[in-house]
Amino acid sequence: MTFCCRDMNRWSRLCGLVLLLSHALMHSANAGFCTPTPGSCWPSRSTFSAWLATLSSTTRVYTPDTTPEFFLSEATSMNLLKSNFPGLIVVPGTEADLRSAMYFASKNRIRVVARCSGHDFNGRSNGRGVMLIKTELLNWTLYDDKTQAISFGSGAMHADIYSALVPYNRVYIGGQSKTVCPAGCLAGGCHGLMSRQYGLGIDSILEIRFALFNGTVITLNRTRNADLFHAYLGAGQNSFGVALSFKAQTYPAPPAILMFDALFDATADNAPGNLLSNFFLNATWFNDMPRELAGNINYEFGSVKVKFVYTGTDYDGTFQKLQPLLESPFTRHVTDPEVFPNMYEVALNLYPPVTDIWARKFITSGFLPQDQEVLDTISSIIVVLFGAQWFDPHEDRDRVAGMEPYLSGLYSLAPTSYSNEFTSWGTYNNVSDWKTRFFSNYDSLLAVKKKYDPCNLMTAKFAVGSDQPTAICSCAPKG
Ligand SMILES: Cc1cc2nc3c(=O)[nH]c(=O)nc-3n(C[C@H](O)[C@H](O)[C@H](O)COP(=O)(O)OP(=O)(O)OC[C@H]3O[C@@H](n4cnc5c(N)ncnc54)[C@H](O)[C@@H]3O)c2cc1C
Repeated sequence: MTFCCRDMNRWSRLCGLVLLLSHALMHSANAGFCTPTPGSCWPSRSTFSAWLATLSSTTRVYTPDTTPEFFLSEATSMNLLKSNFPGLIVVPGTEADLRSAMYFASKNRIRVVARCSGHDFNGRSNGRGVMLIKTELLNWTLYDDKTQAISFGSGAMHADIYSALVPYNRVYIGGQSKTVCPAGCLAGGCHGLMSRQYGLGIDSILEIRFALFNGTVITLNRTRNADLFHAYLGAGQNSFGVALSFKAQTYPAPPAILMFDALFDATADNAPGNLLSNFFLNATWFNDMPRELAGNINYEFGSVKVKFVYTGTDYDGTFQKLQPLLESPFTRHVTDPEVFPNMYEVALNLYPPVTDIWARKFITSGFLPQDQEVLDTISSIIVVLFGAQWFDPHEDRDRVAGMEPYLSGLYSLAPTSYSNEFTSWGTYNNVSDWKTRFFSNYDSLLAVKKKYDPCNLMTAKFAVGSDQPTAICSCAPKG
């Protein structure tokens, strides 16, 4: 490979990494795909040049030899445990160029991986030797006052959509982090702060414009290509093609949003049961909570951090209902509430800047309620996140191993987990039951996959069809 190794003084550290990573490519699991490795079918420079000449000036394409520093920074996933080295990075400035990239990739058997924010805990928005398509320039939003629906490009982040709706006093049901994108979030389901009132993010999606493996665009909704519409919404991470844009129903914005934190011990010497069984997973207690009350439960080594978010107006009534919990022996600390004017401000304040929270991350979740019996009794959505994060690479093995004893406890809560909030690392947490843990109807999803991506060119870890041979044909592109 003609990487960057001519000026060793300037690039020595970089080159070392590049060579290390390129060596790793030779052992990649990209069977059937062309990768930039010796002896592989990676297209020649002239083939690339001819294609690049057809793209618009707004589209950026990066290769390791032309822009090594940028390329290396992009290869680094936000979850550093999951970094990978793509073969080529394309940042399309137009939908036409994104489609052209997919056409080129399918013709040349290059594996395509879409990335919006890169937040995927499993590093699935990257891959060894792939064509990484970053959708960040396709980040438009458009609100239609008549239908009260918002349309947005697949590069839009939640903050873009929440802020676009502020002038109209409407909300979109999406994730809480400002920098998470609906594109990947919806591909797993997407729970948000108002999901107890309006359902998951996927429940509000009206339409998707979708590019198949060869760049052919189709419209998905409840009547047109409905099988793929439903498959993408919940099982779509890089599996069936690349979503170009979405249209979603919106809802009236709450007058104000109140937020406070509480820190608990999972168990207490002077209390029977534990925090989850007594409160959050206790159907009677939970159903008594107003639907406008939501939050995050984070379970880390016996401590439970809960962020409560309230979008209703009955403050006294809600606090009264919370008293038995907040005054229980499990409670360590409760902060004063803060009030936010809209969902955009909540998103801006909910998490620290992304660089502060991302390092080495191991996370997993129980997505509850898990079965029909519980569903019938708990009218809510509870995600219990369980994780650890650290900064020092030397701690990797110990930190991840330290999580193991807690995982069985979490999995005993629910046989299902949320595929968007889950990490496996090496041999740790390598769920063999992923087809049933992450999906409720795997066989029918696989049938949809085979219909729309017959050569299995779109693939990702723990995604539909990921256990099948990939790139089994080149599927003469239609474009
Ligand atoms: C700080 C933080 C907060 C979070 N908060 C929430 C939350 O409130 N609710 C919730 O449900 N989840 C939440 N998540 C999890 C989140 O849903 C996942 O991390 C999700 O994968 C992010 O999607 P993305 O597009 O932003 O990320 P990416 O990493 O860019 O993409 C994720 C996956 O989707 C695929 N993908 C991206 N774009 C497309 C496309 N256009 N077409 C097809 N496939 C595509 C990627 O290939 C990858 O497999 C949070 C995660 C973090 C890190």
